[in-house]
Amino acid sequence: MSVRLPIYLDYNATTPVDPRVFEAMRPYFMEVFGNAASASHSFGHAAQDAVLRARNQIAALLNVEQDERQGAREIILTSGATEANNLAIKGVAHAYHEKGRHIITQATEHKGVLESCQRLATEGFEITWLPVDSGGRVSADQVAQAIRPDTLLVSIMYANNETGTIQPIPEIGAICKARDVFFHTDATQAVGKVPIDVHADGIDLLSLSAHKFYGPKGSGALFVRRKGPRVRLMPLFDGGGHERGYRSGTLNVPGIVGLGAACEIAKREMAEESSRLSTMRDRFESQIRSALDRVFVNGDPSHRLPQVTNLSFAAADGSSMLRAFDDVAVSSGSACTSASLAASHVLRAMGLEDELAYNSIRFSLGRFTTDDELEYVAEKVIRTVRSLRGTNVAATCSA
Ligand SMILES: *Cc1c(COP(=O)(O)O)cnc(C)c1O
Repeated sequence: MSVRLPIYLDYNATTPVDPRVFEAMRPYFMEVFGNAASASHSFGHAAQDAVLRARNQIAALLNVEQDERQGAREIILTSGATEANNLAIKGVAHAYHEKGRHIITQATEHKGVLESCQRLATEGFEITWLPVDSGGRVSADQVAQAIRPDTLLVSIMYANNETGTIQPIPEIGAICKARDVFFHTDATQAVGKVPIDVHADGIDLLSLSAHKFYGPKGSGALFVRRKGPRVRLMPLFDGGGHERGYRSGTLNVPGIVGLGAACEIAKREMAEESSRLSTMRDRFESQIRSALDRVFVNGDPSHRLPQVTNLSFAAADGSSMLRAFDDVAVSSGSACTSASLAASHVLRAMGLEDELAYNSIRFSLGRFTTDDELEYVAEKVIRTVRSLRGTNVAATCSA
């Protein structure tokens, strides 16, 4: 068995750019460098054409309406998902605050959603934080019961970055539709891995980011529904009125072209890739669990992204595990700060006891993961856990 070290199993944090995406972007740095807002010359037009094409490529992946002349009008290009989440949540809150000041979200959201809601709470908005079950899911019923006459927005992520848990999006979308409340979803981890259809799923606003599915960093988008219902937003910043006034600033043309190319590849290859990766992931999980007892899979077993596994190892300290993994890039459920060991807010919300939350590791596979790599990592996990359990190391924080 030959593997190149270090091994990358942290695709949920970021992915390498696919070589085909890079080739698509290449001309847009030095040859086709125009400003997509320059309407008076061919340099601008060439950039504009590229952006138009990318908008439609993004739209095609989500079943958003395309437009041959302008490119999909419901796609607002951003610097990534953090900005898209901020724009969606603050944008709706500030545009509609006279209609109501209540927002519903849930405990395991990504920081961009959590902190946007917390910011709004300081401005007098009222946030309902729905609890999740032990698999990390909320139910459509919980959402239905939380909706009030003054509810503006429901924001529930499509799939969780730490566990891969997929939320009941179409059911939540249907309830929001019936109750006349806007529905935003942070779909950053789901795009390119599971099929998404903004109409079937009842989604009004959707955030995504190119670098989570083989596109470049610093490029993302927000889908903003224009009819049935039409959603208005207050922009985050003022300027030249780009992106229908919702997002001023010169467009990142190479980044946008890369995002479009990543979407086109995902649309074509997603089904095959997801099934290949879930087979590899399942084999990896069962190899570890048949060799070790007291290993727990975090997340909802029947509603989970295909390429991630989050495992808790009883009696095997998480930071010692990470230290032993010097040649394998993974993420841990605990974050060492100088003062303390803090367990993941996601795992805690799912009700994990401290020890299992600390001793958790996320392995996220991707396009370039090989069977040999997983074999190497599985053996390393088994060896490391056995040795830590043998020596009974106490939880420490090395940071
Ligand atoms: C990575 C990630 C983000 C942030 O995306 P950026 O483009 O890096 O800002 C937001 N939400 C989820 C679920 C993510 O995984």
